[in-house]
Amino acid sequence: MARLVMKFGGTSVADIDRIRNVARHVKREVDAGHDVAVVVSAMSGKTNELVAWVKDASPHYDQREYDAVVASGEQVTSGLLAIALQQIGVPARSWQGWQLPIQTSDVHGSARILGIDGDAIVRRFQDKREVAVIAGFQGVHGATGRISTLGRGGSDTSAVAIAAAINAERCDIYTDVDGVYTTDPRVVPQAQRLDKIAYEEMLELASLGAKVMQVRSVELGMLHNVRIFVRSSFDKPEDIDPKAEPPGTLICGEEEIVEQQTVTGIAFSKDEAQISIRNVQDKPGIAAAIFGPLADNNINVDMIVQNVSADGQTTDLTFTVPAGDYERAVQVLKTSKDTIGYQRFDGATDVAKVSVIGIGMRSHAGVAAQAFKALAEKGINIRAITTSEIKFSVLIDAASTELAVRTLHSLYDLDK
Ligand code: ADP
Ligand code: ASP
Ligand code: MG
Repeated sequence: MARLVMKFGGTSVADIDRIRNVARHVKREVDAGHDVAVVVSAMSGKTNELVAWVKDASPHYDQREYDAVVASGEQVTSGLLAIALQQIGVPARSWQGWQLPIQTSDVHGSARILGIDGDAIVRRFQDKREVAVIAGFQGVHGATGRISTLGRGGSDTSAVAIAAAINAERCDIYTDVDGVYTTDPRVVPQAQRLDKIAYEEMLELASLGAKVMQVRSVELGMLHNVRIFVRSSFDKPEDIDPKAEPPGTLICGEEEIVEQQTVTGIAFSKDEAQISIRNVQDKPGIAAAIFGPLADNNINVDMIVQNVSADGQTTDLTFTVPAGDYERAVQVLKTSKDTIGYQRFDGATDVAKVSVIGIGMRSHAGVAAQAFKALAEKGINIRAITTSEIKFSVLIDAASTELAVRTLHSLYDLDK
């Protein structure tokens, strides 16, 4: 008998039929004798609709009320799944974030989980023999008692945090793909499912654009050593052989991965904007004058390239910011024009970042150089580059994203 967390994403609970299918998956584990806590997302598309309503009501909305509205999607699915489970004879009870409670910080819209009373969940397993159906994505800020949400994709984080709190044997993430692939299988049909991926690699993949897991959920998994298994909810529960290993991807410590490839996966993000500040005096303090005001305005700068301007006297600085912050960044830089002292300013939002990730890069030289050559052969111009120990990223025109991803995918033999 094991303690399990089963998390079901939006497409897995998209309508009542799909919720019935989820209930049968849960029953399968309960029948096998396990104690199960289920975490559900809102029905697919629901959170987008709720966010749009908030923005329609006022462009300058109160973040606390945003949370009150957008958390409601998960309230609906948790209740519906509890009903569907009861209907097939599985005792179940729904729990909202504030009822459990899942304590969070007060950063409404992207709150952090501070604590979960895991013992209370376990006690209910023992006393009531009841499946806990927990609304993902939401919690409560203790001091104010207000509902909070964990940022988009946050049900993954709810699930991993609950798995850590109840010391679960595994946290199963059921989604619409049967695992983590070498790149998004919707973009590259040749993408291959990985049997295992190290936390660190998954962290990079997620933060560089692969939305299959929320970044914070992977951070938490790594911190608490939660075994996270990504699998499909679209397999029929009745077809699953309880004794066989189901298809899926285990996210685990790198010591568990025997056959380490140099490159594990490729991620991409079109959520980038490029800014170039031209003809800046090349003197100490300039970087601080540019990036200080951006940081003060909570704008994250990612890739940074500095080079000599066309006049040979001054310098150009190119960097990227999240596309959503582009307009604000432009405003901040215009306001600081006199302190920075630049002559020209260029910006582009039709850019994309493509990233290559693999722990094997630590011990292999020249991995990035191969990519630069392969991209050049396809006529893809690189606007900026960043590298770190286990990944490198290139900034390119958004129109070339798919071509670049496919080129790199086959370059590193990921097509198999
Ligand atoms: P859920 O609603 O279950 O949380 P998401 O839509 O958040 O599901 O995440 C699953 C999606 O992530 C897949 O449909 C797939 O298109 C996308 N994805 C992006 N990169 C990858 C990858 N490397 N492996 C698997 N899926 C990926
Ligand atoms: N429903 C929320 C979202 O769409 C949380 C989640 O699905 O993980 O972002
Ligand atoms: Mg998700």
